[in-house]
Amino acid sequence: MGNGKVETRSSFIPLSEPLMSGNEWKYVKDCLDTNWVSSAGSYVDRFEQMVADYVGTRFAVATVNGTAALHVALLVAGVQPDDEVLVSDLTFIAPANAVRYAGAWPVLIDVEPQYWQMDPQRLSDFVERECTWSNGSLRNKRSGRRVRAVLPVHILGHPCDMDAIAETARKFDLTIVEDATESLGAKYRDRMVGHLGDVACFSFNGNKIITTGGGGMLVTDNEAWATRARYLTTQAKDDPIEYRHQEIGYNYRLTNIQAALGCAQMEMLSDFVSAKRRNAFAYLKALADLPGITPMSEARYAHSTFWLFTVLIDPAVYGQDSRMLMRQLREMGIEARPLWQPLHLSPVYKSAEVLNNEVADQLNRRALSLPSSVGLTARQVATVVEAIRREHL
Ligand SMILES: *Cc1c(COP(=O)(O)O)cnc(C)c1O
Repeated sequence: MGNGKVETRSSFIPLSEPLMSGNEWKYVKDCLDTNWVSSAGSYVDRFEQMVADYVGTRFAVATVNGTAALHVALLVAGVQPDDEVLVSDLTFIAPANAVRYAGAWPVLIDVEPQYWQMDPQRLSDFVERECTWSNGSLRNKRSGRRVRAVLPVHILGHPCDMDAIAETARKFDLTIVEDATESLGAKYRDRMVGHLGDVACFSFNGNKIITTGGGGMLVTDNEAWATRARYLTTQAKDDPIEYRHQEIGYNYRLTNIQAALGCAQMEMLSDFVSAKRRNAFAYLKALADLPGITPMSEARYAHSTFWLFTVLIDPAVYGQDSRMLMRQLREMGIEARPLWQPLHLSPVYKSAEVLNNEVADQLNRRALSLPSSVGLTARQVATVVEAIRREHL
């Protein structure tokens, strides 16, 4: 069985696949050898400590996945049924779903056109113009509901402009819940993503920068919130012997086997961030002069992990649109993918409040994410670039 490396299927270049090149086998074997396979065990504690140390938060609570971490983060932050939470419009759907699990409602804030993150100006406009502030609480004038939190999503490995978002949040006493699931390892003005708000969440799904197969983590400096998060994720058990419960909790725990993977992956994280940045700069350099292609970029305030390296395609100049190019690349064994459908276009959120989110629409039509695995080789980057150049009409 060796080190568990499997030859990759032919020459297919996937969008994002995990890399298990460290102590994964050793730590998982340790779980199996010692029979510590389930939700208690030393790897869970170790993994939590490693993530907390890396991000710089006082506390970390492991969860079964990133969506569960977001759900619990909203609960510990005090989001109540029928509250509203201000969410980025251009994101994977999980944060909006988590808002609904908490019984609250998402209000969808458009992204800015340059780095494609929640637009602080739109956020401030919404709060200043569409809401009223009285008796220490913010209310949406139209719905009459209380606006309780803001949930910026750092998409694609790049941070939101958090100082600007925090300014609005502090002014109106909104809790900041960071969805940092795509951006572990990124920095905002030398501060780690995940330590920029009141509570933050990570994901260790198979396509993220590090993986535990499936998994998540909530991080915070707030001790009471961390304690409550641990309580809620373990079925709100008040007495471990008599099994007494006063509230409805959740079985959201991570297993020791998954955490063992997580510890091994955390040991590699700095290397993974470097590898992703190296590949991103190779793409940037090679695509810079190609007409009709605008690659993602890095803000001056940001140290991005370039989780999924993404380009915008202007079909009038390039000669094909993003979906056509995606299909062509697939025929050449190269996996590419558009960005998510903006939430306001998703049938399940069509009733959510939006404020003409044309930037998200535009990005959705034009964007294509290119192969970005940590283990992507320079030769594979060259193959992808060559294919994109060849398709330019
Ligand atoms: C991956 C991801 C999540 C959480 O995903 P899980 O699969 O539940 O771990 C949440 N939000 C965003 C934006 C994501 O990309």
